[in-house]
Amino acid sequence: MNRTDQEPGAGSPAGPAGEPSSPGLDFIRTRIAEDRANGRYGGRVHTRFPPEPNGYLHIGHAKSICLNFGVAAETGGLCNLRFDDTNPVKEDVEYVEAIEEDVRWLGFDWGDRMFYASDYFERLYALAVELVRTGKAYVDSLSADEIRAYRGTLTEPGRNSPYRDRPVEENLDLFARMRAGEFPDGQHVLRAKIDMASPNMNMRDPTLYRIRRAHHHRTGDAWCIYPMYDYAHPLSDAIEGITHSLCTLEFEDHRPLYDWLVNELFAGDRPQQIEFARLNLNYTIMSKRKLLQLVQQRHVAGWDDPRMPTISGLRRRGYTPESIRDFCTRVGVAKKENVIDMALLEYSVREDLNRRAPRVMGVLRPLRVVLTNYPEGQVEEVDVINNPEDPAAGTRKVPFSRVLYIEQDDFREDPPKKFFRLAPGREVRLRCAYFITCQEVVKDGAGNIVELRCTYDPATRGGDAPDGRRVKATLHWVSAAHACEAEVRLYDRLFTVEDPEGQEGHDFLAFLNPGSLETLAGCQVEPGLADAPPGYRCQFERLGYFCVDPDSGGGRLVFNRTVSLRDTWARIEEKERSR
Ligand code: ATP
Ligand code: MG
Repeated sequence: MNRTDQEPGAGSPAGPAGEPSSPGLDFIRTRIAEDRANGRYGGRVHTRFPPEPNGYLHIGHAKSICLNFGVAAETGGLCNLRFDDTNPVKEDVEYVEAIEEDVRWLGFDWGDRMFYASDYFERLYALAVELVRTGKAYVDSLSADEIRAYRGTLTEPGRNSPYRDRPVEENLDLFARMRAGEFPDGQHVLRAKIDMASPNMNMRDPTLYRIRRAHHHRTGDAWCIYPMYDYAHPLSDAIEGITHSLCTLEFEDHRPLYDWLVNELFAGDRPQQIEFARLNLNYTIMSKRKLLQLVQQRHVAGWDDPRMPTISGLRRRGYTPESIRDFCTRVGVAKKENVIDMALLEYSVREDLNRRAPRVMGVLRPLRVVLTNYPEGQVEEVDVINNPEDPAAGTRKVPFSRVLYIEQDDFREDPPKKFFRLAPGREVRLRCAYFITCQEVVKDGAGNIVELRCTYDPATRGGDAPDGRRVKATLHWVSAAHACEAEVRLYDRLFTVEDPEGQEGHDFLAFLNPGSLETLAGCQVEPGLADAPPGYRCQFERLGYFCVDPDSGGGRLVFNRTVSLRDTWARIEEKERSR
């Protein structure tokens, strides 16, 4: 796999495509534009997003959703939502509902075209009978192990099954009885009759149907035979009149089978499969099976845990649909596998929230500050700018009084070089309020700093000194008597290594980051946030973007940190440490 460190903004819509493409168009959009120019499909564009309802959608699926719904929208075409529910064992309605919600939340609309492969079971069965009748499929009675042995290897051709030349009538009879439930699971399968010597293993008489007595979440117990994905998918595309069937690269070797099936069974304009590189992100995983394992083994709180790369996790974390769509555009569509830096995803949400999230003040680790020369009992309402990026957002009133909280990190008793925040004897600005000077540090018996005693300069109201005097730092603050208490959850990467699935000899779980969640209780936020509803997004000045968690309510206020701001002091410290 080819690793590219993608700088924010480096991704062009075309991406590093392995095929030539028109300016501004990736190779898929170029192919579609050519088809339209040539009048193929009568100029129609019809795509589909085909999730299997066996887990929640993740950021990789978002790439596929944006591509499929995106090209349809750009060309005046249509995109279907189709549940590929051919494997009854792993599928569930919970997943169907979550998938619908996520696609809608991302901003896409399938109109009245929500389909299920299981809707086509009768039709797919009839098409299989058709293949049997024309001598293109047969019932094989080898065991699974025998089928594997007969299949050959990449270097050796396979051998024909002794059942391959069964007469058509016998095949029709056996297939009907498979459906009727006359045989136990595994006794027979239906196979396409293609070529056991094909260099492509997928063409060595692939299995089309297997007997499996399993309850299906939609068809119940109506069926005891189920079509294989490789059979159901191309035919579902053809049934729906799909023109461009966009899928990930691992299906490239399946394309000859896709074409074989649609050519055998359909006439006219048949769908074509086009493969693109899947999205890979560092420091996380994108396998539904492994994500399910994280949920089931309670390594995370659920599919929507804000550390998960799922759409629902990102939503709960505070990501906007716009930022995810923007990320997918930046990543682009290409033929070559690569790994995208998590930083690009974070960049996309920062860009979006910077534009529209209101700024508020919240103190994560409070340090009490008493302004000794501020009148007891006095409260002022100071005007604070809501968003410097958006003048239309205006200002709000924030109460200011004698006892305040500032961030513990904003004070050092013995400040290192380049630390410009508060220190004994030093003057700093409190955002939109006053200049204050630290006069005294109060400690408890154990030597911990518990309070600062400061003075304020009444002449600096609003945060400017009339004599032009400058300070080197501006701190956020809240008034102790007015602030409301909140719980804040800070997140770090879920894994400690870039590629948790690719570590020789280790299970991916070995690389779970034990510090991926830090919960801070007793945070203090400005009073205007008391009734902020779940999903409300804001910037805590100097700390990052935050979003109210659904755990809030009934007097409880919980915030998730979506993403930090790029903290200049943290970067300086990091540099100093690495020296
Ligand atoms: P499974 O192993 O369960 O098949 P899957 O991730 O392929 O997992 P599907 O539900 O089959 O899940 O995926 C739906 C669609 O999303 C498919 O067309 C698939 O190609 C696409 N897709 C899945 N993962 C990614 C990814 N990481 N990047 C881009 N597209 C993806
Ligand atoms: Mg799949």
